[in-house]
Amino acid sequence: MEMKRLFGRPLGRGLVLLALVGTAVAGLQIGTAALGAQATSPLLPAPVVENDSAAQIETFYDTYGGRDTFTPLFRDAVETYMLAEDDVVAGDFATARARIDDVFEKYSMSDPVWTADNAVSGVRVGDIVGYNALRMLDEIARVGLGEPAVEVEPLTFTFVLVECASGVRPATPDLAESEPVDDLVLDQRLVADDYFVLRQSMQLFQMYVWAITGGERYLELDFQHVSECAEVDCCNGGNFAGIRDSDNSIRQLPEDVIEGSDMFLVTYPSSRPSDPVFESVEIVSGAMGSFDGKPNFIGNDTIFLDKDVQHGGEPYTDLERRGQLPNWLQHEYFHHLFNSFEEFDLEPELHLWFERSSWPDDFVGTFESDYFAEALNKRFYTATPSVTERISMATDTDIQSEEDLTGVYRRNPVENDWHTVEIVYENDELIWTNTAGVRCTLHLSSAGLFTDVSCPYGEQELHWQIDSSGNISITNIDGIETFDRVSDE
Ligand SMILES: [Zn+2]
Repeated sequence: MEMKRLFGRPLGRGLVLLALVGTAVAGLQIGTAALGAQATSPLLPAPVVENDSAAQIETFYDTYGGRDTFTPLFRDAVETYMLAEDDVVAGDFATARARIDDVFEKYSMSDPVWTADNAVSGVRVGDIVGYNALRMLDEIARVGLGEPAVEVEPLTFTFVLVECASGVRPATPDLAESEPVDDLVLDQRLVADDYFVLRQSMQLFQMYVWAITGGERYLELDFQHVSECAEVDCCNGGNFAGIRDSDNSIRQLPEDVIEGSDMFLVTYPSSRPSDPVFESVEIVSGAMGSFDGKPNFIGNDTIFLDKDVQHGGEPYTDLERRGQLPNWLQHEYFHHLFNSFEEFDLEPELHLWFERSSWPDDFVGTFESDYFAEALNKRFYTATPSVTERISMATDTDIQSEEDLTGVYRRNPVENDWHTVEIVYENDELIWTNTAGVRCTLHLSSAGLFTDVSCPYGEQELHWQIDSSGNISITNIDGIETFDRVSDE
């Protein structure tokens, strides 16, 4: 019986965060204890990624033949998204604002100049030279300079790292035939250095979610490993080769982790064959799914590590990852958002936004991320329920206050008067009374739930369990007696 993980987590963590984040003061330590020395941010939980942007920019230019290899627009765009991300992480929204305004003054938002030939072979910084990242930063800076939200709470983004995979992979470059494969293992570069690659990939998207909720929610990352191998599949028409059933990998997680997650990202070993005949074969490895109505990003391990073969297949530099991955995450997430805001019918057909003529009359702009910004500003922000309400998907399994525990409880089967109990909260005291008339005071604190020393049971620690429907049961420490709440009146 796995009692430990089923029972209540420590009290009040969310409330403490709320107070700290609400003040929006730079430099406060937010979130759970950092793993080692970490920078802090007013709108991100620790640990914050320590990007040395100057060095990352230099490494990027060194890798691709020097700064002069790139057009002025390219250089301005990538350097701006790097430095403006650092600004907003540090809570310096004014400097970020100035940088972003500067770049869009030189090259107007939505202008075709953005899709002029800026490409350098083998480089990948988002679909349009970091444009999506810049528009995300634009939104973050706008919210950061506005009134701080009154209430700020975390959302949980759960990485589901599937350790191994077997099944079938493509055997021919036309993806018509498959062959068995059974020895695929997760690329450990994802795990290295406290998940640095994943944290770096996520950071801008985390702040973007904070922005689109008006600063009411921020995204905490949770990393969960699944040892049961995933089944990989391919060659059923189309060019997808990868995990067959990502839901099955999520189901391997402890129930409280599943319930406590607002979003998932399932990543697993790539099944792309290493044979050179596949070198130029485009294989789709990312997708958006849904688990219990929660967004489920699906991508193999190489999505975070190496560029697509049509972009050279080399490992991402930090600068590229910080432009490309937010672009991917934003794109996939909007599939989910358009589905959540289905009343606006903004994705009547898959990817229809790429068809400019399909846009609603009041939408301005040209590019994908213009469409996303229009959707937010002209539809979602004024919708009911709000963005915050729609994207907060976790079931709250925490007890936040004494009132959460009140109600009538029964120990089944009821064999005597001690097996029916009422818990009330009055005069700041939590009191347990059974049908036999025996009263006992309970104490709830960050240390847990305890019976008072004067109780017939003496001082005992009690545990609570809440399921996804909000049903509560309370058990003594030995797990001998369990009382289920039958009414919260
Ligand atoms: Zn898509």
